[in-house]
Parts: sequence; C-alpha cells; structure tokens
Amino acid sequence: MKNEQTLIIRGGRLIDGPADLLVQDDLIKEVGKPGMAAPPEARTVQAKGKLLHPGLVNAHMHGHGNLGKGMGDRWTLELLLTAGPWITGNRSIEDKHLTTLIGAAEMGLKGCTACYDLTVEFPTPSAEGLEAAGRAYREVGMRAVLAPMVADISFFEAIPGLMEALPAPLQKEVERLRLAPYRTSLENIRKALHGWKFDRDEVRPAVAPTIPLHCSDDFMVGCGNLAREYGIGLHTHVSESKVQAVVGLRKYGKTLTAHMDALGLIGPDFTVAHGVWLDDDDMKRLGERGASVAHNPGSNMRLGSGLADMRRMLERGVNVGIGTDGANCSDNLNMYEAMRIASLVSKVQGPDWQRWITTAEVLEAATAGSARVLGFGDKIGRLAPGYKADVVFLDLENINWIPLNDPTNALVHTEDGSAVHSVMIGGKMVVENRRLLHVDLAKLAREAESARERLEKLNRENKNLYQRLEPIVGSFCPGLAKAPYHINRFGASQGFY
Ligand SMILES: [Zn+2]
Repeated sequence: MKNEQTLIIRGGRLIDGPADLLVQDDLIKEVGKPGMAAPPEARTVQAKGKLLHPGLVNAHMHGHGNLGKGMGDRWTLELLLTAGPWITGNRSIEDKHLTTLIGAAEMGLKGCTACYDLTVEFPTPSAEGLEAAGRAYREVGMRAVLAPMVADISFFEAIPGLMEALPAPLQKEVERLRLAPYRTSLENIRKALHGWKFDRDEVRPAVAPTIPLHCSDDFMVGCGNLAREYGIGLHTHVSESKVQAVVGLRKYGKTLTAHMDALGLIGPDFTVAHGVWLDDDDMKRLGERGASVAHNPGSNMRLGSGLADMRRMLERGVNVGIGTDGANCSDNLNMYEAMRIASLVSKVQGPDWQRWITTAEVLEAATAGSARVLGFGDKIGRLAPGYKADVVFLDLENINWIPLNDPTNALVHTEDGSAVHSVMIGGKMVVENRRLLHVDLAKLAREAESARERLEKLNRENKNLYQRLEPIVGSFCPGLAKAPYHINRFGASQGFY
C-alpha cells in the first residue's frame, strides 16, 4: 500500500548517538545530524528523550499458539506435540484470526515489527485460514511471513515404537489424529499461494513442513519445489529435541540436516528452527549453503530441549536470527526477553568468556539476522537509508534507562519491553504513547475469553486423551532421549544434554 508522505523524526538518539531521520513514504531516506535540513512539506515527529532502534524481528513463532498461552507447565517438546489437539483443536476461521491478532498485538506493543509465523490448521491448511491470519497482522500494522505448517505423518507414527507402546484403545483414538495426504496439503498451499492477496512487503507466504520426521520425503521435496517455484522461504524444526536427533539418525542413517541436504532442500531461503542438536558438519553444511537458523533459546529451556550453540553457528557462516517460538511453549512473544536469554544461554555453556556472544551480536541477530531469515534482509532490520521506516521509540525516562550507560548492553540485558513508547512500521505509527492505534485491547480480551471458554468445552475430549497419553509419551520419549548421541561439540554428550 502506498503511503505518500514526508516525515522528519527529530530530537531522538540512535544507538550510536543523536540523529534525525528523514522518512519518505515508507522508507528511511536519510539519517543525519540533529537539526538537518528537511523539505518544507515534511511533518515533524518529535523524538526528544527517546532512543530509536530498528524494529525487532521475530524469526520464529506460531500465531496459532496465542490462544494456548500459559496452558502447560512441565512439557517436553514431545508432550507439547501430544497436547496439540487439546490446545489447538476445533478452531474456526474466526479463532484463527483471533489467535493471530493476540500475538500481533503483543509483538507490536513489545517493539517487534515483523515476524515469521508458522501457523497450523488441522488436518490441512486452507487459503481462508491463511487469509484470516494475514488479515490480523494487517490490522495491527505489522509485517509477517506466514507459513502454513504441514505434516503427513502424525507424531505417534513419527516416533518408532511409540504406537506399539500404546494400549489398543488408545491406539484407536490417536488414529483419528491422522493428517491429510500430502498431495492435498500441497494443493491447498498452491491454491493459497496462487490467490495471495497481501502486498508481499507486508505479509508474504512461505512453506513450513513442520518437522522432517513428520513429513514423508516426497512431501518435503514437494514443499521445496513449491518454495522454489514461488521464490519463498522454507522453514522447518530441525534437531530441536534430542529425541528428534536420535530418531533421525535411526530413520535416515544420517543426521536430519544431512538428510535434508541430500533431498536438495538447503539453500539461502532455508531456515532451521532451533538446531539445538546440530553437529559441526550440519552447521558447516548450513553455512556453506547460505542457510539460517532461527534460535529460540527461551523455548529450548522451557521445553528442556537443551542449549543451542550460537557461537559455533556464526563461526561456520550460518545466518542466525532470534525468535520467541509460540506462546503455547514459551508463553510470551517478547523479543527483548528472547535477546536477553540468547545472551545468557551463550554464557552458561562454558567458561571461555571470549567465546560468549556479545550484546552487539545478539542485537544484530534479532534485527538484521532475523530480517534475512524472513527474506527481508535488504529491507528491514536497520535504521539506514533505503530501509523500511520500522522504528521503535523507547522512553529514556523509563526506569530501565536510568541511567543510560551503554545503549546496546541496556537494550539486550536491561530492556524488557516496558520502555516501548511508540512503534512505527513503514512510516506509520502502530503504537503511540504505549497504545495500539488500530486494536481495541478490551474488545480483544472479551473475544479471547469467549473463544477460550467455547474451545475449552469443544476440546474436553482432546484434553482427556492427552491426560491418558501423558504418562506413556512422558516415559517413552525421555527413554529415547537417554540413548547416547555423541555430537562433536562442547558439553553435548555430557549427561542428558
Ligand atoms: Zn516452533
């Protein structure tokens, strides 16, 4: 959408010092000294007492997870997958819009201006569901990459021996969790891609075969072909949990990354979500192909998946972005928190402090690195001429910034989102004076509560099924995770991790 205007943002300070920003339409035209000349028609945006930073970019989240916020506590990834039908089941198109809107509203309020949303519809994606999700981002004013998350093998079929470990009546019940045949899902994605109505600079599509073990090779290759044909991203959860890494080796006779490489899927538009259990060869492979990892350290700790080694990824040339993961496994979509955890997770992995990730590296990953993950690398993630005017205004009178010693350290280690005063996306304000301009939060709360109540009833049986499966999955999968899995990096084969 064209946004014809000229703005001059005056009086603010950037991370490296005071500067004014000239915005033409939706782009930053010039970054100059305070008081720089501006065309007479330019409207002034006052930024006195504000720190301006590029909008944070969430490299990995799930819009469908927001209605499931806070539903679980002690969940491994495998228990979360088992809980899927309970926490995400029976959604109407309006629910799909609502759950996405809750996340978009949260991200906007917390300084995040673009995200990569892997969104699920059971048993197969639909053009209408994706349209409903895309509409939610446009209502808030955010950018998003929207990827239908698909599979053709259920979790119970994906883990060898798990189905047989279930008593016969439970086996019968999980049978109904069967997914659509992959050809149906590919057809539906193609339909959605073909009729895509959004401006691709605002909401663009991608494809997300959810987890390699949950997708037949034909399906993975079909997704890869679609991505190539339409010039869009391919994003999948790889080596997130140790169970995945162990089962991958058994199933493919090689690591999950090596297997996907053999299928010809890894290239510059390919993103590995998590990559906790990648080995050095995997990272090298990703680096050589120009691929990315979406690093979600909060989720990795929350689900007990382990600690991903961002330093080694960077050393092997992997582009690293930072994400929050879904609110059903990480409970918030706060990119400031994700940055802080990314820094701390690096520091807790070993005593060699010179290898720890710096705050500048974390900030780079959460802006420019994530932007590249989204395929927006030359458009967002920096406050520089030619980039989109996606700007966060932080209030320097907020307690987080009193006193202001080092802006980068404070942004990564101190800020928690509470100093976000205003947020501009593409030259338009979407948050002003701590309020979303286009979403009524009170109305959103009412709608969410009524959906929550209705879905709780509709999913009662699914919850009951989860409760009966929990003890079995909860002992079978950790058993697999105790299998030796020696990967060539510090700490990886010590104990559980
Ligand atoms: Zn995820």
